[in-house]
Amino acid sequence: MSESFPLISHPSPNFDARPAGIVIDTIIIHYTGMESAEDALVRLCDDSAEARERGRVSAHYMIYEDGRIVVLVDEAMRAWHAGESSFRDKKNLNANSIGIELVNCGHYIGYTEFPRAQMDALVQVCKGICARHPIVPRLVLAHSDIAPARKIDPGEKFDWKFLARAGVGLWPEPEPKDYASAQVFLSSPSSMRGALVKFGYDPDVTIELMCKAFNRHFSRNADDELSLEGAARLAWLNRQP
Ligand SMILES: [Zn+2]
Repeated sequence: MSESFPLISHPSPNFDARPAGIVIDTIIIHYTGMESAEDALVRLCDDSAEARERGRVSAHYMIYEDGRIVVLVDEAMRAWHAGESSFRDKKNLNANSIGIELVNCGHYIGYTEFPRAQMDALVQVCKGICARHPIVPRLVLAHSDIAPARKIDPGEKFDWKFLARAGVGLWPEPEPKDYASAQVFLSSPSSMRGALVKFGYDPDVTIELMCKAFNRHFSRNADDELSLEGAARLAWLNRQP
């Protein structure tokens, strides 16, 4: 990637202070899920009385399909993108994460592929974040990973392998072939559940919802059970530091 995508400053009033001493170790990727980027930008900056009523939201960055990058909230501050959330030992991940919104109409309006320019700009933003904060590769996550009962973004069209090949996040490569561990998971719902919880999913959600979230991230589909290949990827992921 040679291009440097422009940063556009568009401050959102929707933020507060992070808890004292918090380490920013997580990146959460979202899609906007609205008719237009303009609508999303209004929502992400809305602190009107109506917005206060239904809940104000924001993110640190929003990235257009053509790669323009909007800077909404300073990374040092807590943006409000994750909502009620859980992953591994953490809850309410706004405190320790940076949130990035990708412009995309989403599943309910018109879900489209994420264009190459948008993905390249995302890599640029994430590499900058990783240079400034100790981001753990396994903690570059989807909103659906940290809130599997409520959220499905950025969804199965998002190319996590592309992101990992560019140096951001964790992807099982070469394709794991440990089908013995995979078979154990597939033959025992309790060991499957245990592996999904070990990966990081909230133990209070159903195994079907965990599988959907895992598949959206690692199998490019939203099936409610894992394939043999998916289970092998899960086994591989759980062996990483
Ligand atoms: Zn989201």
